[in-house]
Amino acid sequence: MGTIAEAVLEDGRRIPYVIEDNPPRGGMKYTYFAPDRSYVVQFYNDPNASRDEQLRMRLKAILGQYNPTLAEKNGGAAGNSEILAEYFSQRFCWPLAIVQFPELGIVCPTYPDEFFFTEHSAPQLKLAGKDKKSHWFTSMNRDFLSKDERGDLKAMLRIAILLTRSVRRLHQAGLAHTDLSNNNVLISPKDGNCIIIDIDSLVVPNMFPPEVIGTRGYIAPEVLATLSLDYRDPRRRRPSTQTDLYALGVLLYEYLFFRHPLLGPKVHSTVSAGENDFLALGPKAVFVEDPDDSSNRPTNLAVTIKDVGPFLESLFLQLFVNGLHDPQARPSALEWERALAKTWDLLHKCDNPQCEMGYFVLYDENQPICPYCHTRLKSDVIRFHLKTEIRGKGGQWLDDGVIDISDGMALYGWHLFGNIFADEKADKTVLLQVEKRNDKWYLVNRNLKQMTGQRGQTIPKGESMMLEDKMVFRLSREKFSKVVYVTINRLR
Ligand SMILES: [Zn+2]
Repeated sequence: MGTIAEAVLEDGRRIPYVIEDNPPRGGMKYTYFAPDRSYVVQFYNDPNASRDEQLRMRLKAILGQYNPTLAEKNGGAAGNSEILAEYFSQRFCWPLAIVQFPELGIVCPTYPDEFFFTEHSAPQLKLAGKDKKSHWFTSMNRDFLSKDERGDLKAMLRIAILLTRSVRRLHQAGLAHTDLSNNNVLISPKDGNCIIIDIDSLVVPNMFPPEVIGTRGYIAPEVLATLSLDYRDPRRRRPSTQTDLYALGVLLYEYLFFRHPLLGPKVHSTVSAGENDFLALGPKAVFVEDPDDSSNRPTNLAVTIKDVGPFLESLFLQLFVNGLHDPQARPSALEWERALAKTWDLLHKCDNPQCEMGYFVLYDENQPICPYCHTRLKSDVIRFHLKTEIRGKGGQWLDDGVIDISDGMALYGWHLFGNIFADEKADKTVLLQVEKRNDKWYLVNRNLKQMTGQRGQTIPKGESMMLEDKMVFRLSREKFSKVVYVTINRLR
């Protein structure tokens, strides 16, 4: 063990840390651990950082008024409750304090255990103790990970939703992460969880931005294309929420397809590998699945954006075709979050127990074939086609999503009411539950106050109703409650 040193924090507290030779070093900082490893103390590689007043001001804002992991009453972000603070403290590895002495630095929590590999994770790669950076799961290394570490499509989609929600939360506050990448998002498909790290390079509104360039493959094309210009040149494009939206889309694409959206077979330059890379990811970037330009399309694309359903397909096209060189055209994190939630509701379990991904997005009932293992479904497809009443226009209804129902599935407020969205604020009480008994399908009232049946009768808590094909009913007498049209498609 190394020497114990003491850091003095801005608020005067003193905390111990262990000085080791060759501490882990990233692009911006190096890290020492607490004696009990419950937190880390990080200092900047740049020896002048302590004199950088802009950096100090920015850190103060990040730890205080812009901090989503701290309740407003404890000095965190405006409007942030303790419940939301707790939620986001699991989504971000947010700095806890500023170190004043021996030099400017930050204190961060240690990542939770689930984000470290164990000796069983990938014996061939010897990963025990390493953190679960996204790239282990989206590159060729994936094949060497144990089956349970790799997770299934449901886990990857959950990770996609959690990451998108966290980025949306940053953007809502006007913050930009600026360096989202497969190094700065740790994921654990085994647990369906993710956490964003390296928060201190955030762009904060009305403050001098950090000099962050980003990570290869996640730097937006316009930033890469203008990188050689002087830092003060107005033509130079800097990291922002719009460049975050590019990096977010790259990560989402990698989580769902295990490949990079721009790195295809197209050769842009034979001068040098560096020049080719610059063009492929910068000024000449072409999406591997561009519908009008197949020049960068690999010949072996087994699963494509079409296979993850229409909501995500259209956003991937909006980002990597329309928005690739036009930052304004990129979909927002909120749009992604909504599309991912709708896609989640279309997940169907694959009938093949050996299927690598376990689930697939069943967007077309007439083509019930898993794109991962090509198994044709033989089980029932039960669906709720939801409609929401247009506000102020009684009796006029709008399509509001489809839910693919499975045995034991729980339905929550956001499924049943038009005014609730599945975000961090949504109540997680199970209102209704689906049950299959003797080959018949039932909807059980767990906690819905005024559940109504097909003839408008009240169904009390604990009671259930049998579902039939082409049945239509309003779920509840309460305001904003949706209408359901049931379809039962027996594929046997
Ligand atoms: Zn399958």
